[in-house]
Amino acid sequence: MLKIENPATGALLAELPEDDASSIAVKCAAARAAQPAWAATPVAKRLAAIARFRAAIVTDLERLAAILTSEVGKPIKQARNELNGLLGRIDFFLAESEKTLAPRRVLDGSSMREEIEHVPLGVIANISAWNYPYFVGSNVFVPALIAGNSVLYKPSEFATLSGLEIDRLLHLAGVPQDVFQVLVGGGAVGAALVEQPIDAVFFTGSYATGARIARAVAPRMIKLQLELGGKDPVYVCEDVDVATAAASLADGAMYNTGQSCCSVERIYVHQDIHDAFVSALVREVQAFKTGEPTCEDVYVGPLTRAPQLAVLEQQVADAQAKGARLLVGGQRSAGPGHWFAPTVLADVDHTMAVMRDESFGPIIGIQRVASDAEAVRLMNDTDYGLTAGVYTRDEQRARNILAQISAGSVYWNCCDRVSPRLPWSGVGHSGVGLTLSTYGIETFTKPRAWHLRSA
Ligand code: NAD
Repeated sequence: MLKIENPATGALLAELPEDDASSIAVKCAAARAAQPAWAATPVAKRLAAIARFRAAIVTDLERLAAILTSEVGKPIKQARNELNGLLGRIDFFLAESEKTLAPRRVLDGSSMREEIEHVPLGVIANISAWNYPYFVGSNVFVPALIAGNSVLYKPSEFATLSGLEIDRLLHLAGVPQDVFQVLVGGGAVGAALVEQPIDAVFFTGSYATGARIARAVAPRMIKLQLELGGKDPVYVCEDVDVATAAASLADGAMYNTGQSCCSVERIYVHQDIHDAFVSALVREVQAFKTGEPTCEDVYVGPLTRAPQLAVLEQQVADAQAKGARLLVGGQRSAGPGHWFAPTVLADVDHTMAVMRDESFGPIIGIQRVASDAEAVRLMNDTDYGLTAGVYTRDEQRARNILAQISAGSVYWNCCDRVSPRLPWSGVGHSGVGLTLSTYGIETFTKPRAWHLRSA
């Protein structure tokens, strides 16, 4: 049985039977059998089902937000933000899919024609993380379903109740039972799913799990997309308005209790404004209200996973032992639940785990730099490459710096931001492939090349 607990209180929310190898095989066979009819359904009808799913989310938004808050500990306003953000993503897919999926004639000669057809991949595994279950799940299953695929969706074991709500609402909206199915369970269920005769794996989660999945599926040559972790840097130049930059970056580091793949995890500050910036950032972080995530004015909630408490404690201890200054926070708070105080460390460097390993919690390290060149070198000194940002009044300076950074998304004067119109991807240990944008619709199809000569 899968036990689901409230991370804020430790209360048991539910106990659910888990899938096993035989139930997963049955679901996979049913998904395979149902897929051709779904692919043959006119795209307008598939889009209509997704539009009804969107409408059902609007109707149920408060209840869905409350469930999300109860199982992952996300502050209630941020839970609503996630669901409202989902509506915007669905709108993008509803507007863009039909023309993106349409066959494209690329040569129209007198006897020779060439066309590209977008054929659905077939049966896909959608293995998801818990930190934004509605975002990271829907980036895959919404365009995958619109493109005519069957989806076996494995929500994180820490976001299963939300996964089951998604399942219920999609079926209510008219997506056939076997075309979208949920698998309940943890890593073993995910591992058993990727062993099935599926056509593609779309995974969101940690680098360690992504690498394990890549090794497992490599000999089968099926499509694999991995959206993994980050150690996202920001460089603050000396020409900024310090208070504005500090407010934006405190939010970027602490929103969702620092548990975002694109949370700001490293800040480099030009030496000319370093001290003023550090003071301003500490003030912003101290102003965040921590507490019971159902309260409307709470900004920082509990950690979703208890083991992360020890990771954060070790990063703080390691940094302090190597000379960092702990300015605020730095320790877990009394339970029940998994609480870690919002934490700011200054005088950090790259010998410290806090500047090298993904923290995935409410903790931020600040390092002083003397020049743009030093900032570029340090920002690129990582295995990850998800996002990176520069704060400056000078757009050209930001563009010059960001052009030298190895990352899937780059930001000028903003951070921790995802847009449905732009591709979401990482380099290095942040993953392969992408979701969102029109590329994130095409990715759920295989292009078939038609060479047509009139007799
Ligand atoms: P995780 O790797 O522990 O788990 C992710 C999913 O994989 C879960 O559903 C889990 O049950 C499943 N799983 C675990 N072992 C498996 C195995 N051997 N085979 C198949 N599936 C398995 O990650 P998490 O703790 O859920 O999520 C946090 C991580 O996700 C962070 O590193 C974060 O940066 C990353 N993330 C990335 C993005 C992105 O868009 N790049 C978005 C959200 C989260």
